Amino acid sequence: MAANKKQNGKIGVTTENIFPVIKKFLYSDHEIFLRELVANAIDATQKVKTLASTGEMKAELGDLSVRIELDEKAKTLKIIDRGIGMTEEEVDKYINQIAFSSAGEFLDKYKDKIGSIIGHFGLGFYSAFMVADKVTIETLSWQEGAKAVKWTCDGSPEYTLEPCKKDDRGTIITLHIEDDSAEFATKSKISGLLGKYCKFMPFPVVFGKKTEWKDGKSVETGEDDVINNIDPIWTRQPSDLKEEDYDKFYKALYPFEEDPMFHIHINVDFPFHLSGVLYFPKIKERMSIDKNKIQLYCNQMFVTDHVDNIVPDFLTLLHGVLDSPDIPLNVSRSYLQSDANVKKISSFITKKVAAKLEEIFKEQRTDFETKWDNIKLFIEYGMLTNEEFCEKALKFALLKSTTSDKYYSLDEYKTLIEATQKDKDNKLVYLYATDSVAQYSYIEAAKAKGYDVLLLDCELDSHFVNLLETKLKDSSFARVDSDSIENLIKKADEIKPELSDDDKKSLDEMVKASLPAGYEYTVEARNLGENEAPVLLTQTEFMRRYREMSKMGGGMNFYGQMPDSYNVIVNMEHPLVKRFWENKDKDLLKNMTDLALLGAGLLKGKDLTDFVNRSYNML
Ligand code: ADP
Repeated sequence: MAANKKQNGKIGVTTENIFPVIKKFLYSDHEIFLRELVANAIDATQKVKTLASTGEMKAELGDLSVRIELDEKAKTLKIIDRGIGMTEEEVDKYINQIAFSSAGEFLDKYKDKIGSIIGHFGLGFYSAFMVADKVTIETLSWQEGAKAVKWTCDGSPEYTLEPCKKDDRGTIITLHIEDDSAEFATKSKISGLLGKYCKFMPFPVVFGKKTEWKDGKSVETGEDDVINNIDPIWTRQPSDLKEEDYDKFYKALYPFEEDPMFHIHINVDFPFHLSGVLYFPKIKERMSIDKNKIQLYCNQMFVTDHVDNIVPDFLTLLHGVLDSPDIPLNVSRSYLQSDANVKKISSFITKKVAAKLEEIFKEQRTDFETKWDNIKLFIEYGMLTNEEFCEKALKFALLKSTTSDKYYSLDEYKTLIEATQKDKDNKLVYLYATDSVAQYSYIEAAKAKGYDVLLLDCELDSHFVNLLETKLKDSSFARVDSDSIENLIKKADEIKPELSDDDKKSLDEMVKASLPAGYEYTVEARNLGENEAPVLLTQTEFMRRYREMSKMGGGMNFYGQMPDSYNVIVNMEHPLVKRFWENKDKDLLKNMTDLALLGAGLLKGKDLTDFVNRSYNML
């Protein structure tokens, strides 16, 4: 090909006119053109730097900034680099043949799925035509004796390639922004896009001049405005960084968030390349958590903040940055999940997060305990949804005792209750409360027996309890108010009171009559000894768990719709019950059932004056 005269040609694509196709399919994501062009400029710059370092290129490197120049009036946008540039042959090969045909192939292949992969994959150089009706490339290769060439294309498959004057090594891409895309010819838009996509690119990206406030207005200074941070913390060695560097980076990423709990710095080269910093945000309620806070980069180029197919669901609750050139970007999201590299990366991150938590648990136990309430939801969610994480987390998950206000690991807690809380069948019973105020009287009853009661008041705890029962051998969990304490941890077979069928029936009727309507009751006469409560209201563990889960959308709506039902345990050995039963004293019974209602938290908000007076009479 002759380099010294103007040449016309037709770009080798099968699709007759590719540009309308590009525009149509990529409509929703026009803005990625800027990322693609700046990324090419950065690549070319990286390459020239490598050539200089190997000694292949003798010339001075000079300033390696990539410059973005916008002329709002003329509606032109220039991306200027001092990278390797291209020779005429290279323009022909990379721009006319390869890039164009690969764009064609890409569109053919992904026509149906294109909507779902947008944002993960750009069309490279040709995405410029999403916003421009004419594009020129002026380029001078780094090679000695190279001649500058200018390529021009107006959006049809026809291009011109001609010699041009350009003394400086590198490439200038000029976009003539079309009228439909006028927004991309505004400073604020370009500034926003550079902030989104180029914030951490590895060479300085300059957009205009820095401004300062002078006499009440903002004026330009002579200094270039570099919009990026070329060595963000994830590219640096953890040993060179201080805690405040991590905090500062977090603040830069999420200016409106509270400080994070702690961070994990990831840096691996084998068997894949992955770096990044993940932060644990403060999590109080699951519903209030923002997903999509992890940003995915590829060699410091922003790719997406939807990492849901790359990391397990529970990890999307974390914040921070991941950077990997090994995550394929040119495939659909559903394919991504089955990609071997992505699977390995996902499993690696899970292990790393678990290892960090275990390390803090072992080495900074007090710190871990203070932070527990804020990370508990994350850990429980992880354990419930990810088997791999669960196995690891069983070592450091904590249980909080309401009785002592202390935190225990699962192993420690087992040791604590083993001697006292085994039932007659040698099964270990974990007692728990979900509300230490409402269930106060039950907790006290358990304490009086020398038992410990856990506090499980988190929204995932009912699921968590089910999970622990499958993981802990010969163990079960029982909420303190789900039966009498004797029955929750049965030490011996109980001798039931002897009542005739008629007696049972009359007890049943009397007790039900003394309780408020609107609930279902099952009345049961038991011998619990003189020191236990005379009447006790409980809700079975089974029934309550199903109701709670159906409330959380577990699908078991049948239980969710049933009225609340309670077991009413009448302790026939209690002196007051004996007195009531002998005299069939309804007033006395009413006092005792009210006391039970109070204990079960069912008299909340009622006027208790009358009740207190009656209690005095009873005693
Ligand atoms: P990709 O970057 O994925 O290879 P592109 O369509 O963006 O695809 O670019 C095609 C090729 O054109 C690049 O691989 C590179 O060789 C060349 N190229 C594009 N932009 C530049 C540039 N600014 N400087 C030097 N070469 C470039």
